[in-house]
Formats: sequence, structure tokens, C-alpha cells
Amino acid sequence: FEYAPAPESPAAAGDIQSSYGHFIGGEFVDSSGSEALKTVNPATEQVLAEFAQGTEEDVDRAVAAARKAFTDWSALPGSERAKYLFRIARIVQERSRELAVLESIDNGKPIKETRDFDLPMVASWFFYYAGWADKLDYAGFGPNPRPVGVAGQVIPWNFPLMMLAWKIAPALATGNTVVLKPAETTPLTALRFAEICRQAGLPKGVVNIVTGDGRTGAALTAHPDVNKVAFTGSTPVGRAIARQVAGTRKKLSLELGGKAANIVFDDAPIDQAVEGIVNGIFFNQGHVCCAGSRLLVQESIQDELLDALKRRMATLRVGDPLDKNTDIGAINSAGQLARITELAASGEAEGAERWAPSCELPSAGYWFRPTLFTGVSQAHRIAREEIFGPVLSVLTFRTPAEAVEKANNTQFGLSAGIWTEKGSRILWMANQLKAGVVWANSFNKFDPTSPFGGYKESGYGREGGRHGLEAYLDV
Ligand code: NAD
Repeated sequence: FEYAPAPESPAAAGDIQSSYGHFIGGEFVDSSGSEALKTVNPATEQVLAEFAQGTEEDVDRAVAAARKAFTDWSALPGSERAKYLFRIARIVQERSRELAVLESIDNGKPIKETRDFDLPMVASWFFYYAGWADKLDYAGFGPNPRPVGVAGQVIPWNFPLMMLAWKIAPALATGNTVVLKPAETTPLTALRFAEICRQAGLPKGVVNIVTGDGRTGAALTAHPDVNKVAFTGSTPVGRAIARQVAGTRKKLSLELGGKAANIVFDDAPIDQAVEGIVNGIFFNQGHVCCAGSRLLVQESIQDELLDALKRRMATLRVGDPLDKNTDIGAINSAGQLARITELAASGEAEGAERWAPSCELPSAGYWFRPTLFTGVSQAHRIAREEIFGPVLSVLTFRTPAEAVEKANNTQFGLSAGIWTEKGSRILWMANQLKAGVVWANSFNKFDPTSPFGGYKESGYGREGGRHGLEAYLDV
């Protein structure tokens, strides 16, 4: 029996304009420059739309609009700001099918995920931070915490709308105004979100969206009238922004890369662990900063676990993101596909053994089979570098202490997973692991009430929960 619901219709994404400008001061406006970029559907390589490459002048206008709006917005009672956030959350829910389809088309991720994960997360982030807006005096920061001012926010392409929600919801709840730059391969849902801000009646200039590539991002993070920089993206760019911001009085939070260990002990229920491993690395094509990209398996169960894992991987469906049965969608861009391909080739060249199920891939678009490497040593590039794709590197261990040592042997420290029936071992391991998030008998679970963020080269600052307010307040 094959459950085969009709695929989602691209028309459900609503009207996609042939070209877009920025959203500044509550209006859709043209760029001051003439350069345009294109965003493509990575599953078909068809151009979806052109959008503006934001200039320094565009960024300047957007920051000025945010500055102007700050006076009134920050003076509103928290209970009034909350109403706008609740309204945005409800509109996101009402328009969630449209937004999910648009996100899947622009990003390549399966509709199953945008529908059941991304969009519910986006709404929950706005609901959650709406609840804080009138309770900041009770957040434990002391009396009368003040908003920082204008926030310059730069986000990546892997969860475009969810990253936007993680950035915008706490900033607005605390009384800041925002200029946000989406990633250059996924600008469409941020521009659609601008419409939602208008629909919610959000005062002009509270949220501004300026599109473009890294040059626009750098103009925003360098702008002298930005008080707070929030960045999610790669570690090299995060490092460049930290250098740029050093010596200014801007507040900075960075959410960067990861190389998480997913650690499976011999007492773990194998089927449950296999589901967690598959979810850990193949969710969102592995374009996940906290992906469980290193599987650490206890030596005694290696054969049994890998057999079960390969059987499960062979059932994964790769293909059309709008097919409701698709498990693995398209790689977001040709550039990312090239990077994954190159790193996987390095795994073979360095002596690891490569395996992937034989599945047909569509002829157009950017695709990569779910891939497993065994015989991996800690020195291999595929064990050290973030691949940001559906590629799993398997290492083994004998004792819990060895598992901790290998898990922590990385420049990153964003997340980790532990699979064992022993509660005492979970607590001991969680204390030893240098990771911002440790999941036990689960993986990739998110909730707006929980702070999320990294140790080491994975960045600093936390998003989510009460801690997520801190980045946007002077206390
Ligand atoms: P990236 O760093 O190249 O780009 C991220 C964003 O920064 C984009 O909007 C880009 O235009 C902008 N940018 C590029 N150069 C800039 C500069 N010099 N100044 C300011 N902005 C600049 O990363 P990417 O390839 O888009 O995203 C993938 C990376 O993001 C991965 O390494 C992943 O781990 C990381 N990531 C981390 C988290 C997290 O929460 N820690 C979440 C998602 C992605």
C-alpha cells in the first residue's frame, strides 16, 4: 500500500512578482542601484523572480526608517506591542499553506517539512515572544530593561522564514526596530512576510527588509546607526562580522556552524535510534547547523545498527519538494551542491568507504543522495568540516569517556544527541559534552521556550526562551 496524496500545487504559493524591490518604511520601494539578482527554484533551476541587490544607500534608507520608527515603537506599552505580534502569528497561521509552498519552491525543502515544521515554528515564535512583551519587568533583568535600538539582522537560506521569526519576534517584543537581510538564494518568504507586516497594521518602519548578497549584509552590519547585530550563517562570515563590530559599541550575537555528534550506545532501542539518526542528518537535506553529521556508534552494535540504517536509508524518497511523500528535497543552490560534492569526494580520497542507496534523481535541479561514510577517522575532512548536506560520517567508540572525547574533538559546539536507556549516563554525558543543546533519545527538537546557541566556533549568544530577550535589551 502506497499512500499517494496529490502533490501540493505551485499555484498555492500565491502571486510571485517577476521582480522585487525592498520593503522600507512600510512601503515596497525600488533600489537606488540597478543591479538585480535572481532566485531560482532549486528543484527545477527555473528562475522564480528577480530581486534588488541592496546598495549602501538602500541600507542607509532602511536604517533611517527603523530609527524614525524606534521612538514611537519603543514607547508603546508592551501590551500594545504584544497585540501586533499576536496578529502576525495568527496571519502566519492563516496563510501557512501559501507560505509553506513558497518556502519549498524557493528553498527546495520538502513540503512535509515546511508545512509541519517551519511554519508552525514561525507562528509559535511570534506567539511566544508576544507573551513576553508586557512582562519584561519580570524577566529577571532588573527594573525597566530598555530596548537597544535598531537591530541589523542577517540570516541564511536553510530555514528562511524560521530564521526571520527567531530574529524579528524577540526584537519587536522588546521594543526594537529591525532591518533584516534575507539570504540571496531565498528572499521570497521574507518579502512575503513584509506583506504580512502591512496586513497586521504594524507601524511603518518597525520592520524593514533589504535584499542582496553579502555586500548588502556587510553594509548593514557596518552601518554606524545600527545598535545590535544578529547574524546566523557560516563561521568564516561570523568571524568577519565580529572583527568588523569590534571597536564599536554594537551588541553582537552569532549563530554559526556545527558538526554535531549523534552518540548511540549498545543499550539503545535500535529502531528508535535509526529514526533519530535519519532525522538528525537528512532533515532539510542536512542543511541544518545542528545536524547530527557525525554518528558515534558503540563498537559492539556497529554492524547491527549500520544494517538497519542502510535499510532505512533505502526507503527515503528523494525528489519533488511539493510531493507530500518526499523525504529529501533539492539542495538549495548549485554552489552548495558543489561544496557537498567536493567534501564527499575528499572522504573517498582520504580512504573512507562511501555508500548511498541507488535511487533515481530528477534530471533538472540540484540533488544529492543520502550518503553514508564508514571507516572514517577523526583526521578526515568529512569528520571535521561542516558539510551542510545529506552526508553522514560514522565513527566508533568503546566507552562513554571515549565517546565524550571524540564528540568534543571539534572546533564547533552547537548540539549533540545521546541514545541510551540509562538516565544516569544521559546526565553524565550532557555535562561532559561541550554543546549548546544536548538531545537525549531525540534529535532536532525545537521549542521557542528553550534557548538555542553554541559553544566555541559555533558562536555566542542565545536565541529562544527568556535568554533570547537578553540580546535585545540594555538591562
Ligand atoms: P553565509 O555565512 O555565507 O551567509 C549567511 C548570510 O550572511 C547571508 O544572508 C549572506 O548574504 C550574508 N553575508 C555573507 N557575507 C557577509 C558579510 N561579509 N557580512 C554580512 N553578511 C554577509 O552562510 P550560508 O551559506 O548562507 O549558510 C550556511 C551556514 O549557516 C552554515 O555554516 C550553517 O551552519 C550556518 N547556520 C547556522 C545556524 C545557527 O543557528 N547556528 C543556523 C543556520 C545556518
